[in-house]
Amino acid sequence: SEPLLEIEHLKTYFPIRKGLLNRTVAHVKAVDDISITIHEGETFGLVGESGSGKSTVGRTIVRLTDKTEGQIRFQGVDLHQLSMQEVRKIRPQLQLIFQDPYSSLNPRLRIGDAIGEAVLDHGLTTASEVRDLVKEVLAACGLSSYHIDRFPHEFSGGQRQRIGIARALILNPKLIIADEPVSALDVSIQAQIINLFRRLQQERGLAYLFISHDLSVVEHLCDRIGVMYLGSMVETASRDELFGNPLHPYTKALLSAVPVPIPKLKRERIVLKGDIPSPVNPPAGCKFHTRCPWAEDVCKQQVPKYRNVGASHFVACHLV
Ligand code: SF4
Ligand code: MG
Repeated sequence: SEPLLEIEHLKTYFPIRKGLLNRTVAHVKAVDDISITIHEGETFGLVGESGSGKSTVGRTIVRLTDKTEGQIRFQGVDLHQLSMQEVRKIRPQLQLIFQDPYSSLNPRLRIGDAIGEAVLDHGLTTASEVRDLVKEVLAACGLSSYHIDRFPHEFSGGQRQRIGIARALILNPKLIIADEPVSALDVSIQAQIINLFRRLQQERGLAYLFISHDLSVVEHLCDRIGVMYLGSMVETASRDELFGNPLHPYTKALLSAVPVPIPKLKRERIVLKGDIPSPVNPPAGCKFHTRCPWAEDVCKQQVPKYRNVGASHFVACHLV
């Protein structure tokens, strides 16, 4: 099938300005050459520590942030070439869900109005039909029409995330970018929300870009998984391939910290030393060399190529 979203060699840098003249003295290389393809109905999990740039990828796709280089095409259309008016037209199809939906809900607005507002703003329904539409998406998200006239503070964290999902869903999107949507929730609630994401995907053929620092979260939902480190993609593979045959040392380290038993994987815990370096001055060569237990001299000098090692398994490491 045609790709729904194609990200090619995306770079998003933020200037650091200093002094009276506000001169740019350096750049935060938040996203530093990332390529991702997502097909209709597919779920791509984007994983990495905080500071890896994964949220910036999501924000750059929907143009909350400008790109520095590269291309982002949605259904063949270059999103960063569109006028803001054209972006507004396409936005219903491309929805963003955040970790804390509470912060984006107006505390004085009943949730029925909060959910209906988006679809009315875009002129996608009439005032007389909006209430039925809201009831329908609330039901699809496991809430009842009894909740429609309640205020955000009356809901639990899990329910608020259901409201956040309902508000995206009412626009009938093709792609939902979910940035750490379950990270703030208890583990038992996390499972319920992940099941909801999965069910909505089956019922509506949605595609997801699912951003998480937690591999055990994406394991249950994603068809393909990409692992980011310091703005770069270090490994991408199908879920089974990534969990069964991880090749990059950073992926192996992340997997060794996943608390559930994984067959075929040696349970030896790989503890990474140090923190993630600054994206202003990333290490030369392989950006991971300062923390990699297997680093050799070549790793400090040469950037490893991100290449296909078979079965659409991509990895960037000199030793693979
Ligand atoms: Fe480690 Fe070298 Fe591979 Fe980088 S290229 S992950 S430093 S072995
Ligand atoms: Mg983030």
